Amino acid sequence: MGTHDRSQPALHWLFGDQLGPHFLRPNSDIVMIESRGVFRRRRFHRAKAHLMLSAMRHRAAELGDRVRYVQADTYRDGLAQAVGDAKVTVHHPTSHAALGFVRGLRQVEVLPPRGFLVQPEAFSRWAESVRGGRLRMEDFYRRVRREHDLLMDGDRPAGGRWNMDAENREPPPKDAAALPVPPPYRPREDAIDEQVRADLDRWERSGDVAFVGRDGPRRFPAGRAEARRALRAFVTRRLPTFGRWEDAMLAGDWTMSHSMLSASLNLGLLDPAECVEAAEAAYRAGDAPLNSVEGYVRQVAGWREYMWNLYWYLGPGYRDSNALGHRAPVPGWFADLDADAVQARCLSTTLAQVRDRGWVHHIPRLMVLGNHALQRGWDPAAVTDWFHRCFVDAYDWVMLTNVIGMSQYADGGRVTTKPYASGGAYINTMSDLCGPCAYRPAERTGERACPYTAGYWEFVHRHRERLAHNHRTARAVKQLERLGDLDDVLRNARRRDPDAAP
Ligand SMILES: Cc1cc2nc3c(=O)[nH]c(=O)nc-3n(C[C@H](O)[C@H](O)[C@H](O)COP(=O)(O)OP(=O)(O)OC[C@H]3O[C@@H](n4cnc5c(N)ncnc54)[C@H](O)[C@@H]3O)c2cc1C
Ligand code: SF4
Repeated sequence: MGTHDRSQPALHWLFGDQLGPHFLRPNSDIVMIESRGVFRRRRFHRAKAHLMLSAMRHRAAELGDRVRYVQADTYRDGLAQAVGDAKVTVHHPTSHAALGFVRGLRQVEVLPPRGFLVQPEAFSRWAESVRGGRLRMEDFYRRVRREHDLLMDGDRPAGGRWNMDAENREPPPKDAAALPVPPPYRPREDAIDEQVRADLDRWERSGDVAFVGRDGPRRFPAGRAEARRALRAFVTRRLPTFGRWEDAMLAGDWTMSHSMLSASLNLGLLDPAECVEAAEAAYRAGDAPLNSVEGYVRQVAGWREYMWNLYWYLGPGYRDSNALGHRAPVPGWFADLDADAVQARCLSTTLAQVRDRGWVHHIPRLMVLGNHALQRGWDPAAVTDWFHRCFVDAYDWVMLTNVIGMSQYADGGRVTTKPYASGGAYINTMSDLCGPCAYRPAERTGERACPYTAGYWEFVHRHRERLAHNHRTARAVKQLERLGDLDDVLRNARRRDPDAAP
């Protein structure tokens, strides 16, 4: 490549999740394509569609004359409209499908990925070197810390310990409706948002596209300046308490002390390096305790990088994993985010939060939504599609390993060593959700049996042979064998579901 006609400006294509300065190329004109087909193919959360379009249009407005912004049905049409058959460059896109597509176009030169700390080739080299092929996030994370000199004192981890997880699992404060923490940054909508809303209304009215969920006030940054403000607000006001309540839930506090920056990172508005560096600077300045800062760095430099790289390492076939043979469809009430159809307070509260904002933090994703899907044996590909459509921060690369692997154990244990199935006791310890619930977390039979507790035992029973051979779950099978009321539990396990037969 490198043979473009000097009389023409070089052209560089930005995908809709490549919106920060680190995706630009100096001296290139920019091409952006808004594809209506993306929204026609899938029923996305409307707040997600709003955020994606708003962010792209804000970027186009910032770039001004430098950008050729095209609205088209498909990327192929859009590219033809924007540049004809001229040569363009693009940074490595974030999905197998998009990478295959750009690689298949002769006019496109694909540049290395941006927006991550670790390149897929470096990850593959590390993964191939791991003895026995047993990859562990913890080993990868320590390597990233060393290589990027993150939170290190010389060659030792700051504070002498790599992992502060034990300090980061506090239940919420007793009798508190919300954490004593300042609220997260709130963006202000502008004329671009108004136009996006008008367009989405028009598309919906014409029957061209359909959405799920509510498009309330925009909660997440749509531009670089907003994202920088959100990062600053998190680091100065909320990072100090991030660690201790990382896993806690409160019915009346949907954000807790989380950063709310995943959507900005995944749109490319923020670079992970600036996020972890800002967190480390707060620690070095004595403004945030080590458990919070290590906890945050672990999420961004550890988990996020690990998931991104596993996506490429495990390949496109990973999407079809279904080690537990789960085939049940996702029911309509769940797909429609019909929180009112559900009695279980934890599930109803979480579904309502997803319906209203397209975001909940990692524990409701894993231990309420994912846990329920796993217990009920829903098809992992359908669950993955549901998460992808309903969450503002969801993209193919972050879905597969988080949902197929971490949440549904459909890969048989490549991402996590045991299934994240648990009964109501965990939710009861880590939240205020059970108190007013119609069910009791400790009961597995009878009128007030908790659907999570009964569902847990049904799950263990269904997969007892597999679980008995895993040293992390063998005890659960032994406990199952000692249950005197197992028949009753199995008969009643699904009685509380909205679509259960009366
Ligand atoms: C079933 C399931 C689905 C998920 N789907 C998504 C998703 O669609 N998009 C997404 O970005 N994250 C996803 N996650 C990971 C995590 O739940 C979210 O990143 C987090 O809740 C986002 O909120 P936050 O920015 O306040 O995060 P914080 O709690 O403040 O964490 C800090 C940052 O760490 C990163 N991070 C932490 N864990 C992960 C992870 N497992 N994978 C990728 N990044 C991580 C995110 O960028 C996040 O902003 C999922 C987790 C589960 C269990
Ligand atoms: S009792 Fe069971 S269903 Fe009710 S909130 Fe607690 S865990 Fe959820």
